[in-house]
Parts: sequence; C-alpha cells; structure tokens
Amino acid sequence: MQNKDTMEGRTGLNFQTPLIFEQGSQGRSGFSLPEDDLVETNVKTSLDSNSLRAPIEGMPELSEAEIVRHYTRLAQQNMSVDANFYPLGSCTMKYNPKINEDVASLPGLSGVHPYQSEGSTQGCLQMMFELERYLAEVSGMDEVSLQPAAGAQGELAGMLMVRAYMDKKGEKRHKVLLPDSAHGTNPASSALCGYEVVELKSNSEGLLDPQTVAENMSEDVAALMLTNPNTLGLFEEQVKEICRAIHEKGGLVYCDGANLNALMGIAKIGDMGVDVLHINLHKTFSTPHGGGGPGAGPVLVKKELAPFLPVPVIRKEGERYSLNSNLPQSIGKLKSFYGNFGILVRAYAYIRSMGPKGLKDVSENAILNANYIRSKLQETYHVPYKRTSLHEAVFSDKHQEEYHVSTLDIAKALIDYGFHPPTIYFPLIVKGALMIEPTETETKETMDRFIGAMKDIAERAKSEPESLKESPTRSLRRRLDETMAARKPKLCCDV
Ligand SMILES: *Cc1c(COP(=O)(O)O)cnc(C)c1O
Repeated sequence: MQNKDTMEGRTGLNFQTPLIFEQGSQGRSGFSLPEDDLVETNVKTSLDSNSLRAPIEGMPELSEAEIVRHYTRLAQQNMSVDANFYPLGSCTMKYNPKINEDVASLPGLSGVHPYQSEGSTQGCLQMMFELERYLAEVSGMDEVSLQPAAGAQGELAGMLMVRAYMDKKGEKRHKVLLPDSAHGTNPASSALCGYEVVELKSNSEGLLDPQTVAENMSEDVAALMLTNPNTLGLFEEQVKEICRAIHEKGGLVYCDGANLNALMGIAKIGDMGVDVLHINLHKTFSTPHGGGGPGAGPVLVKKELAPFLPVPVIRKEGERYSLNSNLPQSIGKLKSFYGNFGILVRAYAYIRSMGPKGLKDVSENAILNANYIRSKLQETYHVPYKRTSLHEAVFSDKHQEEYHVSTLDIAKALIDYGFHPPTIYFPLIVKGALMIEPTETETKETMDRFIGAMKDIAERAKSEPESLKESPTRSLRRRLDETMAARKPKLCCDV
C-alpha cells in the first residue's frame, strides 16, 4: 500500500446522512416569514377539491441547516470530474471549463421560453444555426439536427433516416451489419427500427476488415454501423474501403461518433465516405455528465439524406432565422421543442472559446495521454491489441488471473486510492477488459498517481490477493453483493 498520507480518497470527514424522512421533528420549519396583514382565506373553500392534495403522512419537517447539510452530504458522496480523475472509457469524462456554465446561465439564454416568438429568439436560433455549421465543419458532414437528447437517440434518428431513405427508394432491406466491438446502443437502435442485426467479427488487430464487410454485404443490408475510433480505442484504418463495399451494393454507412475526442481537427468522418453520423456533445463538447443528466446527440447527414431530418430544421434567409417544419419526408419530431438547449449553449461556448487550433490540441493531447498510460502500464497489465491507441487504452486482467484477482477487484481497489474505476468488461470482445480514457484535461502528475495506484494494485495481486477481494475498504459503501442488490434491493440505509 502507498503511504496513507499521500493517498487520495481519505474518508475521515465524509459524512453519512440518514434518509430525509428519518430526520427533523414535527413543527420544525426551514423558513420564517414576518407576520402579514392580509385577510386570511381558507384554501379548502377557495379551491375545488381536485386541486387539493391529501395530507402527506410523515412529511419531513426540517430546519434550513438540516436540509442544506443533508443534500450537501449526499452531493459529497457523488464522485465527479470536479473532484478527481474519472477515467471511464468511452464516456470522455473530461473537465468542463466553468466559463461554459457561466455562458449557459446568462439570463438571456437560461430564461428564454420555447413558446416565445421567433422574432424575440433570433439570437438563440442564430447560435443553434452556427453550432450546426461548426459541427458539420468538424465532422465533414453536410446537414445537422441538434434535436436528439443523447447519443442513443441520435442513433435512433440516424437509423430512422436510413429506413426512410430505403422506403423512398422502394427497397425492402431488413439487415444491419455491426462489428462485434460495437457499443450496445448500436444493435438496440437497429432493432428498434425493425432491422435484424448481423454481427461482424473484428480481425486479430481489433479492426474491421473490408473483406469481412464485403462477404456479408448483400442487397438485404440497409446499412453498416461502425464506430471510429472503435471501442478498443483503435482507428479503423480502412473505412474508405469498407464504405465502398457497402455503397457498391446500395447500402448506407452509419458512424457512431460518440468518441470524436480523438479526431477533431485531424480527420473528418464525412471524408471517409460515411453517410450518417451522431456526435455526443456531452462527451466531446463540454457538458458535465455521468449522473444521467441532460445531454445532446446531434445527428449529421450527407445531402442525400437531408430531406429526412427530424423537424423542425433551422433555416437562415437573409439575416433572419426560423424554424421550419415543412419537410414532407421528415422522420418527424424527436424531442419537445428543440432538444436540450442548455447543452447546445455549452457546446457553442466551448467550440468558440477553443477555436480550430484549440480543438485540434484537444484531440492530440487526448491521444497523447491515452498512449502515455498505455505505455506506462503495458508491462504490468495485459494489452490485448498492441498498437498505438487513440483516445483510450484497453487492458485486461490476464496477468492477474493466476492470483485469482479479476478486473472487478482491480476496479474496486482503485476506489480506495481515490480514483473512479475505468469502464470494465467492455468491449465484450476483450475478456476482463479495463478501458481507460484519461482525456486531454488531466495533468501528467494526476496520471502518474493513477499509474502508481494501478501498479500498486498489481503488486498486491501477487503478495496479498485476499486484500483486494475486500476492497473498497475506505469508501462510505463497501463492496456490494451485486446479485442481492439486483434481486432484493434495499432502498433505505441503516446509519
Ligand atoms: C456513449 C456512447 C454511446 C451512447 O451515448 P448516450 O448519450 O449515452 O446515449 C453510443 N456509442 C458509443 C461508442 C458511446 O461511447
């Protein structure tokens, strides 16, 4: 074990908090108001009975300080990027500059109402229009919809457009090709659109072979969904050949661009022959995420698919911006109003403050950091695909197997060192995968501390493997019995 004093994640001043229903005392109140001099009316007689709720049994009654402490303590138990390194592969948990939060909370942007007239929201429409253009530029695509609320919804929108395009051409294609390294949302999106999924095996290098694609391509296949860089953090080098094999037989190519953090300013997905793409703004373009908060997964298409975009689309005529719902072949509306506007503001502020050079620096540093971690840990942990990675590095527990230490033990042990565990057991094609994505925002010192912790854990796997089975021991919650937690969830805590 590292010296306690240098370890992060000390728990001494972290507090438990009981359920709010277990706190307070009858009659206690969180506010006090001066006496008013208005005539009292009884709500029970002035409102109809449908508008009145029944009394709530055991409603908590707390002082202001008790409430503030309760929620602050809960918030402190929540690991965040603002607190420490969060190397959750495929999720791009980068630090989000606070200036973007400031911009998103400007009264003119946070207070705007979706039912306001177009005349009074020209600035918002202009911002969204320009964001569409920036994303099209970064990715090499033609037209954009910012509406989807997440990557998965962007995929759904994209695959619905593929289906609409095929229907328009009168083609009855019923299959979608997917590499075995794909993110789980890909087969789900295809299936939701009524497609049968055909899995393609990655080759020994962890890449998709144009030959494999060609062999499985037929007039029954509507599209191939690929991810680049793929979920092994590797760049699919033969995308052009792959796209050719699909296009030759009349299919379309969908690219999952959730991981754009490695490509900005370096390579454009559109130039590789891709027809549909989604981008996760909450990964690459600065939105705090991880707790299931709002996101945005814009979908981008080449010109021939533009008629199918979700409505409304943003138009610019002269100096005037408008929302246009008159798109007869559109797949329809996906999200109330125009998506998660606040996330779009953050992405806009991020892109404007970084500029083209800044975005390229982001990608270069994200790649550099991932390769730094890979090269420092490749002697200690097994690397299934030995080649330069892009934004993330995938390891496995193969070297620790002989000591009966698993990926789960390694991940849980990291919590005792103050680090959020990486993504584990994904991608599925790597047995016992540990998928580490440092992002560009981490310093060398932070990464060195993480590398030190990982090495320490590998040493302990040899010398005291039982201790790893106990971990985490320094967190507020110990290791859960995951089967019990799923089968018999215990939804309140004993303190
Ligand atoms: C995160 C991710 C998704 C899904 O995005 P959500 O916003 O979580 O729906 C899809 N594909 C890949 C490769 C991802 O990393």
